[in-house]
Amino acid sequence: MPETVQITFLGGLGDIGRNCAAIECRGEVLVLDCGVLFPGEDMPGADFVLPDLEYLSDRADRIVGCICTHGHEDHIGALAHALERLSFPIYASRFTLGLISARLEERGVGHRTTLIPIGDHDRIRIGSFDCEFIPVTHSVPSGLMSAIRTPQGVILHSSDFKLDLNPVDGRRTDLARIGAIARHEGVRLLLCDSTNSELPGSSRSESDVGEVLRGVFAAHAARRLVVAAFSSHIHRVQQVADAAVESGRKVATLGLSMKRNVALARGLGLLRLPDHAVIDVAEADSLPPSRVCVVSTGSQGETRSALALAATGDSRWLDIGAEDTVVLSSSPIPGNEARVARMINNLVCRGAKVVHGGQLEVHTTGHGKQDELRTLHTVADPEFFVPVHGEARHLAAHAELAVRMGMPSDRVVLARDGDQVELGDRGLLSRGRVASGDYYYVNGRLVESGRELFGERSILGQQGVVTVVVALSRDGRRLLARPRFESKGWIGPEKARELEQAGVDEVAAAVEEHLASGAQEGLVKLVRRTAGQFVNHSTGRRPMIVPIVIES
Ligand SMILES: [Zn+2]
Ligand SMILES: [Zn+2]
Repeated sequence: MPETVQITFLGGLGDIGRNCAAIECRGEVLVLDCGVLFPGEDMPGADFVLPDLEYLSDRADRIVGCICTHGHEDHIGALAHALERLSFPIYASRFTLGLISARLEERGVGHRTTLIPIGDHDRIRIGSFDCEFIPVTHSVPSGLMSAIRTPQGVILHSSDFKLDLNPVDGRRTDLARIGAIARHEGVRLLLCDSTNSELPGSSRSESDVGEVLRGVFAAHAARRLVVAAFSSHIHRVQQVADAAVESGRKVATLGLSMKRNVALARGLGLLRLPDHAVIDVAEADSLPPSRVCVVSTGSQGETRSALALAATGDSRWLDIGAEDTVVLSSSPIPGNEARVARMINNLVCRGAKVVHGGQLEVHTTGHGKQDELRTLHTVADPEFFVPVHGEARHLAAHAELAVRMGMPSDRVVLARDGDQVELGDRGLLSRGRVASGDYYYVNGRLVESGRELFGERSILGQQGVVTVVVALSRDGRRLLARPRFESKGWIGPEKARELEQAGVDEVAAAVEEHLASGAQEGLVKLVRRTAGQFVNHSTGRRPMIVPIVIES
């Protein structure tokens, strides 16, 4: 009887981010992606969220390797953290490895792994997993779909993909190869990207964006053009560069990751940009505006990004003014809308013209919509299906799409982070939750889990804090001095001077009454309650109250 295969989802099923899965068979663990999730407003202060690395740590000596399907942060961003605790080889395309190695060197964990390049159509063994890599089109170069042959048949992992018949680099998602595998061996299980499963139709070709960009360049011919895009989106950068070179402009890069990724892509022959067309951003001011195109990071309005700094006049390199047209060649990721809107307002206030996706189609998605998903389902014709890479709503919509196409509903398994499915002779069974699925968030140098901290931070962030210090005599029977209020973020300084004395009086009276009654227990609670009531009655606000009772 062939061995069973377990697949445990350690992230990415419930959020768009922190994609990571463990595929286990014959005592070996193959990891599929290891990315981060960018925290929402409900996790104030967190830098990012990791997948469940605990599950992998418990199986540390059985990990045979990690496949990274492409170079987006939600697929590679947690590798450095994983490698601080674990050691395993990483398999990815050369471009993806270039992005990975920069991150690993930054964190000094490069020596804990071996980076193994894989090419389109390569078929290699990772442990005893027989893996084939199929090219897919996505919003970053060199994305790879994985066909993993196991004793229970082929597991096909789509990676993030779209079906673009006219991709900028001519590298299409290889449906023919997927069809051949389906025909000759059959696809036992499909794990497929669900990001755009709610959206009807097909995504527009990346090449269409190039046409729109050319139009923008023509319409703003006399002005300097600053185009912001994701720094890993080399196909977009290519189209900006082409439009710039065609219109006689020099291209300057702005932002560390843009510089680094452009250099990486040029080195690998993935970006065509002649040397004579490249200038340093410091030289840009010496040329007339009509001769310059700046390609920048910061399309999401990230606070410290090159473009956001330029928008507030704080950039060392770029002085935005009335001669500039700024093109935001991306759409805001949910959660970033307000920041992007603020940046647009700042740019407009500095006299710039702004072109964004809300007005012109200067962006297209990297994820296939419903028609593209249907095509993949048709070509792969899987026996079982688990939607991956999406929020709950995307996973559910993708499952519904498969069932509507005629897949029996008992062959579609909806799983969430922490769940395991098992592929065996009897089919695909849900084993329920075997890993925690918890959020492990990174903040500074520590990794923690649990929500308590964010509850406290939201109160502090929205209402501030009032500290009440009560000093008692050594025997704890009388007040040594008048209590003190210290507050941050509760009320402005003028009002604080007015109100704090009244608060001090109320707390002092309550403490004295309490001590006179002979009671000694419960003083901390009394101070918290008295101060809390005072603060709430006098201001209608609910800051955090921190009582400190000292006996000296
Ligand atoms: Zn991606
Ligand atoms: Zn992704």
